[in-house]
Amino acid sequence: MKLVFLGPPGAGKGTQAEKICQEMSIPHISTGDMLRSAIASATPTGLRAKAFVETGALVPDEVLIDMVRDRLNEADCANGYLLDGFPRTVHQAQALDEIKAPDMVVDMEVEDEHLLSRLTGRRVCRACQGTFHISTLKDENVCPSCGGELYRRKDDAPETIQNRLNVYHTQTAPLIDFYRRAGKLAPVNGEGTPEEVTAAILRALRG
Ligand code: AMP
Repeated sequence: MKLVFLGPPGAGKGTQAEKICQEMSIPHISTGDMLRSAIASATPTGLRAKAFVETGALVPDEVLIDMVRDRLNEADCANGYLLDGFPRTVHQAQALDEIKAPDMVVDMEVEDEHLLSRLTGRRVCRACQGTFHISTLKDENVCPSCGGELYRRKDDAPETIQNRLNVYHTQTAPLIDFYRRAGKLAPVNGEGTPEEVTAAILRALRG
């Protein structure tokens, strides 16, 4: 199964992608994680992407398209993939159709007013990359899953979040129509508990 997870920042794409990938035995490909790791290692891609990622702007299409093409040609993608955070523009979606077109696109719907508190309270583990919300943590600095150090992403600062939401509405939301017209869109309510959302996604995927 070749899957794309679409939705605004903070919709829960990463959390849900982990669960669905385990269930369906396909690799979870998060372009945000790939870029953050490239930035941390100061690779040429990372150096090019840094300022865009930190201000919540989109990294240029050609950087992302080359990165995703290489990743989808790796052996573990032979039976499918779950893309989380790509495509984010119509141009990227057209390129993906040429590389390995998705079978289905899950659109996780969450109202803007809920996204702000989800993003400002989000913490990420430096060791396992797990994401958590401070409302569920005993200690804001310690990963409840592996004991690693938790941090707040630079782009989860309140002043950057509004920019990311604007970018989503102007550049990424048009993909909802793009995939609806292609007959591939599966809208899912992303506002329930994580377990409810996982169940809704699995129902949508199993038709
Ligand atoms: P994410 O972890 O998906 O929220 O992505 C974090 C940041 O990485 C975004 O705000 C962008 O700066 C960059 N990024 C991730 N995926 C893409 C993409 N498909 N196109 C352009 N920029 C991206």
